[in-house]
Amino acid sequence: MQKNSSAEPSPVFVYSSGYDMDLGPHVFPSVKFGFLYARLVDNPKFKKHRFHEPEPLEPGLANLVHTKPYLQDLNTLTMSPRLNRSELPLNREIVDAFYLACGGTLLASRLALQHGRGMNLSGGFHHSYHDHAEGFCYLNDVAIAIRVLQKERVIRTAIVVDLDVHQGNGTAKIFAKDDSVFTFSMHEQNNYPVKEESDLDIGLETGCRDEQYLGHLSQALHDIKQRFVPDIVFYLAGVDPYEHDRLGGLSLTKKGMAERDRMVRDFMPGVPLVTMLAGGYAENTMDTIDLHYQTCEVLAGIR
Ligand SMILES: [Zn+2]
Repeated sequence: MQKNSSAEPSPVFVYSSGYDMDLGPHVFPSVKFGFLYARLVDNPKFKKHRFHEPEPLEPGLANLVHTKPYLQDLNTLTMSPRLNRSELPLNREIVDAFYLACGGTLLASRLALQHGRGMNLSGGFHHSYHDHAEGFCYLNDVAIAIRVLQKERVIRTAIVVDLDVHQGNGTAKIFAKDDSVFTFSMHEQNNYPVKEESDLDIGLETGCRDEQYLGHLSQALHDIKQRFVPDIVFYLAGVDPYEHDRLGGLSLTKKGMAERDRMVRDFMPGVPLVTMLAGGYAENTMDTIDLHYQTCEVLAGIR
C-alpha cells in the first residue's frame, strides 16, 4: 500500500448543501452528499484540507455541450422526448441541483489545475447526452467542465477515466469525434445502458472480482499512458462496482475498491486529477458513503 509523500498534492474538496435533492422514494441515495461532507469536514484526518462552495454553473455555459432545444425543455421543466428517458423527477429544485453540481465539477477542476487534485463531492452524471437526458443525469458536468476549460484555453486535452459500473455512454458520445479528449470506461457489460463507443471500453462479466478487475484496470491504465498524455484527468469514481450494490452486478470488495482508487490516483503523477462521486446504490446506504469516503482518504494519501 502506497502512502502519499508530503510532496504529493492533497485534494481540495468542493461541496454544497444544495447537492441534496428531494427525490422522494428513489434508489438514488441523495442523502449521501450531506453524510459524506459531514464525515469529512470535522474529521481530524482532513483538517488540513480545504472545502470550497461552488456557485451554480452559468446557464450559458451548458450550451457548450447541450443543444438549445434540450436546455430549453430542461430549464422550463417541459416534459418532452428529450427528457423522458430521465429516471428522475423533473422540478426546479432538482434542475437547480444539477446546475450546482456542474458548477462544482468546474470549480473542482480549476482547483485541480491549481493544486494538483480536486474533488467534487457530487458530479459524474455521465448518462446525459448533448441532446437528451438519461438515467439519473440531466447535465453532463464532466463534459461541460472540459469544454469550458478548453474554451478558456486553460487546457487543451483531457482523459476521462470512468469506473462507474455503468458505461459512460453520454460522455462517450459527446467526445466520439474529438481527438482532444480520450474517454475510457470500464463497466459491467450486461447492464444498463445501451453502449456507445468510448476510445477504450472494457466490458466486464457479471460477478467479476477484485483480482480480475484490478488486472484489467492496471493493463488499461498502462496502455492509455502509452497513447495519450493529457493536461488533466477526470476520474468518475462511482462506487457501484461494489459487491452489495443494487444496480451493479460486479463483486468488488471494499479493499478492492480502495486499490482501484489508488491505481487511478497514481496513474499519471504530475497531471492534475479531478474526481467526481458518480453512482453508488449499496443495499445499505452507509456502505455507499463508506466507499466514497475511502476514495477521499485515498486521494488524500491517508489510505
Ligand atoms: Zn452507475
